Amino acid sequence: MPSIRFQVLEVIRDAYPETFEGLSPSKPLGEVVFSGRTPHPNEVLNLFVQQELTSALPMAYYMATRRGPNSLMDGSLPRNATLSPEILRSTFRGLMALREMELNGTHRLIFGPKPPCSVSNCPSRAPTGPAALEAYQMVFDRIVGSPQLGTKVLEVPEFYEDRGGDLQCVGAGICSKCVDGWESGHAELRKQAWATLPGVFGLKV
Ligand SMILES: [Zn+2]
Repeated sequence: MPSIRFQVLEVIRDAYPETFEGLSPSKPLGEVVFSGRTPHPNEVLNLFVQQELTSALPMAYYMATRRGPNSLMDGSLPRNATLSPEILRSTFRGLMALREMELNGTHRLIFGPKPPCSVSNCPSRAPTGPAALEAYQMVFDRIVGSPQLGTKVLEVPEFYEDRGGDLQCVGAGICSKCVDGWESGHAELRKQAWATLPGVFGLKV
């Protein structure tokens, strides 16, 4: 029978994957895998740092950082969920780098040069026209959210919303062919962002 330590490490490996391939959106990730009270991501990060769980650290840093500054610096947290100045510095450095990557990458993806769409009624038939730009802005705003929220750069964005039982792109009138392109482009962005995690959080690799 495998030891408890082994079992615990297996659970952690699943929820704090070492590779991009482990980051399946259908799988529970991060602090939700712990049974009982869900710990604050800061608490998990502190624990992994203390225990030197090196392989799980990039994801643990990301999980704490993605909630943004208020969560990282929350003064009402218990001591074990309060970050040391050194860890706090790393999380902020990482947050800024990931946020910049998210904004630039998403902007390039949505507003970047593209051939005119061939689908009738799609605003992207004229990619630099006012209808297209307005629709792109709606999509961009939806994906990147507010900086106070931290970052969503590793999350699969929702390009569609339910409008009266009909799934439509959040950018008015954008066709599914255009969304397909954005979806695969964003998958690429997530992969790049993942690869930078150890670097932006100052972890030894
Ligand atoms: Zn289109």
